[in-house]
Amino acid sequence: MANSDNPNGQRIAYWYRAATKAYTMLPYYLARGGHAFPPIHYYFEMTRRCNLRCAMCQYIEWLRKTPVSDQKEGELTTAEWERVIDEVQRLSLITFTGGEPLLREDFPNLLERAGQRARTHFITNGLLLDDDRVERVVSLAPKRVGGLGLNFIGTSLEAHRKSMMRYADCAGRLNGQRKRSGAWRKPAGGRTRRVRWSTSPR
Ligand code: SF4
Repeated sequence: MANSDNPNGQRIAYWYRAATKAYTMLPYYLARGGHAFPPIHYYFEMTRRCNLRCAMCQYIEWLRKTPVSDQKEGELTTAEWERVIDEVQRLSLITFTGGEPLLREDFPNLLERAGQRARTHFITNGLLLDDDRVERVVSLAPKRVGGLGLNFIGTSLEAHRKSMMRYADCAGRLNGQRKRSGAWRKPAGGRTRRVRWSTSPR
């Protein structure tokens, strides 16, 4: 989810896309034998369950038709996700998405585990980011920019402003800032934060 008001973010996204495309295509042109470089970016869909019903959602029909009591069916267990996470390439990037990943109670633990071997990013609608969860996920931020741990949170839709304020307060405290600065209030502003928060316009 790129922030349309953030030219730096757009530039980074452009070059990231170009670099990943080159990384994907090079083995094809050089070897043509079904070879590929090891994965560097993983997308893990933790659940299809969600606490919203957005009109444009790819799962909207399924969310509407499937009884809530049946929606968990087929999800990987905690132990299965742990095994998957333990197999990812070290230093890669993992994007956790859904549905709404925070509906899984084990999600913060899985995020922490993933952050011990990879850079992580998760996409959320923000509704479940209460103070405790924000404090927990921000504590998983890397010690230096781009290091192992939670590097990005992507959000959109309802309530993101409220969630963002919580995140900003908490991140400011954890990074040793004693007061809420203007920079922390802006989704794209601020030089000292360690978890980047991007939003998509509604
Ligand atoms: S928040 Fe995301 S997963 Fe949930 S209904 Fe909306 S688009 Fe779908």
